[in-house]
Amino acid sequence: RLSRSVVPVVALLLAACGAPADPRVQTDQGALVGVTMPTTSSERWIHDGQNIKRDLEKQGHRVDLRYAENDVPKQAKQIEDQIAAGAKLLIIASVDGSALSQPLQKAADARIPVIAYDRLLRGSPYVDFYATFENFRVGVYQAESLLTGLGLRSADGQAIAAKGPFNIELFAGSPDDNNATFFFNGAMSVLKPYLDNGTLVVRSGQTEFKAVTTLRWDGETARKRMEEILASSYRRNKVNGVLSPYDGISLGILSALNNNGYGPTFPIVTGQDAELASVKSIIAGEQYSTIYKDTRELATVTALMADAVLKGRTPPQLNNLNDYDNGVKVVPAFLLNPVSVNKTNYHKVLVESGYYTDDQLR
Ligand code: BGC
Repeated sequence: RLSRSVVPVVALLLAACGAPADPRVQTDQGALVGVTMPTTSSERWIHDGQNIKRDLEKQGHRVDLRYAENDVPKQAKQIEDQIAAGAKLLIIASVDGSALSQPLQKAADARIPVIAYDRLLRGSPYVDFYATFENFRVGVYQAESLLTGLGLRSADGQAIAAKGPFNIELFAGSPDDNNATFFFNGAMSVLKPYLDNGTLVVRSGQTEFKAVTTLRWDGETARKRMEEILASSYRRNKVNGVLSPYDGISLGILSALNNNGYGPTFPIVTGQDAELASVKSIIAGEQYSTIYKDTRELATVTALMADAVLKGRTPPQLNNLNDYDNGVKVVPAFLLNPVSVNKTNYHKVLVESGYYTDDQLR
């Protein structure tokens, strides 16, 4: 017997052969789609929300877009409200990926398909699709740019030997976000040999994921942790680099460094999301790098998935989906490519692609 959550996949395959679509959804135009996003405190999610709303509306759907402001029960309530309002499909970028089992159960009871957006929904079988970026690769790129910034790796990826040792510190994202583990594991896959042979040294001794997470990706939490590390482990030494998983965290780290006598030349600090303040900081020579994820593409792919589920079609983008294990189910996932950005390529990647204008970056 097929579980209910695999029905859409089967339905898509059947639809491709001309068979009827997913029986759970009516093939009507103007279906209400419930979209829930984690927070407006980070630009990327504002862009995600706007992009996905625009794309779904272009397809003729109606959109109820809500932000939970990092409040887990609030997000659960928003999803339940959307179910009660008659949503035909849910797109969820979760605050805590494991905390939504109840609303997901309600969605399943009401036969409403669910797409996990950027962050995997864990611990529930009622997740039909997942659209995200190559999250492990994000971490690999962050660590590689840390090595490049420290002079341990050439711009074309060759290892440069006989340098160091360098002092680095590690930061990871929110422990309740599945992506945080992927970013950290990706980064550590690159850094571990350097840590093992002593080229890189973590003076705080904090190298385990659990010891370096930053609840809700909060920049202020990261600033405090960096201040504590500087006070306890860097009275006589300088820190040369910091692995940071997200631009908001990077700015917190840079502020701690600035408060402690670093600057105008800063240690190598990485980031993610190409947020405006961080791109400006990169241009000013403070933050070293970020990872650009084109949220326009993620929205487009997700809207195509949504439209496919609602109308029973199979867009070519849904071929060759990857597997993402959410603990109780392997969720078919579409993975986009991230791009590593620093001062040398920001103009080409961010301005020439139309993501930012030169004026915005001045
Ligand atoms: C996203 C990142 C983002 C982080 C903080 C993660 O789930 O994939 O792009 O930096 O959340 O918002």
